[in-house]
Amino acid sequence: MQEILTAGRYFRKKFDCNIYKTPISVLGFTCPNIDGSKAHGGCVFCENESFSPNLGIQKPKIVSLNPNSKHNPFLSSQLVQLESQFNQTKIKLKKKFNAKKFLVYFQSFTNTYAPFDTLKTLYDRAFELDDVIGISIGTRADSISEEVLEYLQEKSKTKEVWIEYGIQSVYNETLKRINRAETIEDVEEQIKITRGYGLKVCAHLIFGLPGENQKMMLKSARKAVELGVESIKIHPLYVVKKTALANDFRRGKFTPISEEEYIDTLIKTIKIVPNEMLIQRVTAGISDDSLISPVWCKDKHKQMYNIKKALEKNGYIY
Ligand code: SF4
Repeated sequence: MQEILTAGRYFRKKFDCNIYKTPISVLGFTCPNIDGSKAHGGCVFCENESFSPNLGIQKPKIVSLNPNSKHNPFLSSQLVQLESQFNQTKIKLKKKFNAKKFLVYFQSFTNTYAPFDTLKTLYDRAFELDDVIGISIGTRADSISEEVLEYLQEKSKTKEVWIEYGIQSVYNETLKRINRAETIEDVEEQIKITRGYGLKVCAHLIFGLPGENQKMMLKSARKAVELGVESIKIHPLYVVKKTALANDFRRGKFTPISEEEYIDTLIKTIKIVPNEMLIQRVTAGISDDSLISPVWCKDKHKQMYNIKKALEKNGYIY
């Protein structure tokens, strides 16, 4: 049996204790794919305030930050949110999993899409929080400046620093179809630049995107391996309320991937991933009533049970 290099194993080996990510979501952030600088409405699966699913029109733009914002009226609230969300999650993780150290995970929207001063203030505060070993930043490949990369490069000399980019698919026709507003060539280039700064990259892949078959999904996984990213996260595409995808689903224009095909594709992916590549996530689900389809994405425990069982049959321990 071969042990998959999960985040738990990777960090335990490196820091000799249990380390968990603490997701943070602060107000004022948006995404160039939502605010109109690249596109409106966001990726078809992204639940965000700019999309009105019933009318299919844009709501009035909500005031948010972008890299050129002259002033950040949210900063003091953002710092309060950062600390309070971190402290609340830390207490829960310590109690439930005996977590000892933490990686602050800037998760929602595009977390490098704001003025440098704002980003530096937030990241600096995150690095200083008690028991924090570093940060992980979820962002888009088109939204990270050299100034930010240089700052993070310096920090990475003493702290753990991860940048998470969505590859999602290597097919530009798919990226267009999901309104990603970037090409695979742009993403590839930015991953190379980021790794050139010595920063660790986690690539996100989505299986079950509109119009994609298993061969296409595996090609995307191979691309992540070829790019030499340090880690991947994989999840199935599911439909939630208040998204463009929900409209497509209701009109019969989108059919979600089945659990069988998802698990089969996942196992084939794990077979092509090098042993030393960290696999941070193998599925995702949503247990509240915002999930429309597929039903198998509702129960994360059941999903993980089925995935682990299938992995074991193929000689892997998750
Ligand atoms: S890039 Fe991320 S935040 Fe932006 S629209 Fe797509 S999923 Fe939403």
